[in-house]
Amino acid sequence: MQRITIAKGDGIGPEIMDATLKILFAAGAKFEVDEIEVGEKVYLAGNTSGIAPESWDIIRRNKVFLKAPITTPQGGGYKSLNVTTRKFLGLYANVRPCISLHPFVDTKHPQMDLVIIRENEEDLYAGIEHQQTDEVVQCLKLISKPGCEKIIRYAFEFARSQNRKKVTCFTKDNIMKQTDGLFHQVFDEIGAEYPEIEKEHWIVDIGAAKMADTPEAFDVIVTLNLYGDVLSDVAAQIAGSVGLAGSANIGEECAMFEAIHGSAPRRAGQDLANPSGLLQGAVMMLNHIGQNDVAEKIQNAWLKTIEDGIHTYDIYKEGVSKKKVGTKDFAQAVISNLGQKPSVLKPVQYNSGKVMNLPKYTRKPARNKELKGVDLFVHWRGTNANEIGAIMKKLELPNVELTMITNRGIKVWPDGFPETFCTDHWRCRFKPKKGAQIQKENIVELLNNAIKEGVDVVKTENLYAFDGKDAFSLGQGQ
Ligand code: NAD
Repeated sequence: MQRITIAKGDGIGPEIMDATLKILFAAGAKFEVDEIEVGEKVYLAGNTSGIAPESWDIIRRNKVFLKAPITTPQGGGYKSLNVTTRKFLGLYANVRPCISLHPFVDTKHPQMDLVIIRENEEDLYAGIEHQQTDEVVQCLKLISKPGCEKIIRYAFEFARSQNRKKVTCFTKDNIMKQTDGLFHQVFDEIGAEYPEIEKEHWIVDIGAAKMADTPEAFDVIVTLNLYGDVLSDVAAQIAGSVGLAGSANIGEECAMFEAIHGSAPRRAGQDLANPSGLLQGAVMMLNHIGQNDVAEKIQNAWLKTIEDGIHTYDIYKEGVSKKKVGTKDFAQAVISNLGQKPSVLKPVQYNSGKVMNLPKYTRKPARNKELKGVDLFVHWRGTNANEIGAIMKKLELPNVELTMITNRGIKVWPDGFPETFCTDHWRCRFKPKKGAQIQKENIVELLNNAIKEGVDVVKTENLYAFDGKDAFSLGQGQ
């Protein structure tokens, strides 16, 4: 028998978990439960990650984790359990359906029915940050080919399995040509394997504006971590139902399902909370473990309950709602509706018979990599680019010359504009002279010369060509 791990969490967590499990078992879900403790008590017992080490063994053994919201105690030093779980378990896909329930739940977007699939592990969320000079800090944006392939294939397989018609990719590849450019390129490559699905790409700024204005124009959206983080909250909010949304975090081995809201401590213990968010997470879990028929039965009963106007306080509206209920009665109403379908809202159908095909990533053959130069990043407190140009020229080697200096990406030497504002962080690009080559040893020589000349190099970045094509950005204005 399938075993799943559950955590009842904090605040309203235990109440909404009990209600959710009651509905699942009443509908005929087949699994056994192992409960673990996560959240506030565990944090306050001195465990800064909010989970005991032995609980990981249970999560990893069962592979499927249904988690109620937790309270992260105020004050420093406590790490987000969600972020830790995603990273430890390699949960690369965050899946968040945002569906409006018009006219039963208030929304400006009655036709909205989209799913945001957000990359969950990479991008600026790798948390690699450094202060480099008095004035400049950096955060590394890491995008990998396996990361892009996994999330984009997931999005297309998800669309196919759920009979969705279109996948839209959001990036900012007009600016970030390498990182977002890779995501877009992989989208085009993998998309070609799904001829029956419509594909489109939007620049994220105008795409986000379009989504906020006309969400019904979208079906499945796949995007990078940061954009997905922001957009999925916008989408849930404009669907009119933050308290009704669930999400799935999917990895190659394990998966975690939850509500998107928090532990609402002020509502705890009063039989008030709406269990729908966690229930929506649980429906995704049932689909994930192959119990699609049970998932479908629950979802249709839940839609019917909303349609019948049986509402918890958070969505209750005079004139629209029929009966204000608490957590337990709401669950009971869903159970009474099992086997029924909504008549105004669209019933769901999960039994497409299409199984998601998610092959493990296999490493591609190595490409031909050639060193083409080096960027030395220098902490220098002057303001005149010609002055630092003269200093850096002293570092040159017989085969390697200074070709460019930028400040925050903008070319300031040679031929910079005096109007360009400069910080104390300068990128100085060295490349081989015409007809010459550069070797790794030359980088060490440049650094030695920097020490001799009293130049404060804070980092180096090697410039490479892959398969003969330069794979580094030019200076803006170069
Ligand atoms: P929250 O989502 O808990 O509450 C926001 C508002 O929505 C409150 O007014 C609350 O009463 C209401 N609400 C939320 N869920 C509801 C439900 N199911 N039914 C009825 N009303 C509901 O956000 P918050 O108040 O900012 O955070 C409270 C705690 O939750 C914090 O400790 C935060 O760190 C934590 N949190 C946890 C998670 C998680 O575990 N995934 C996510 C977000 C916040």
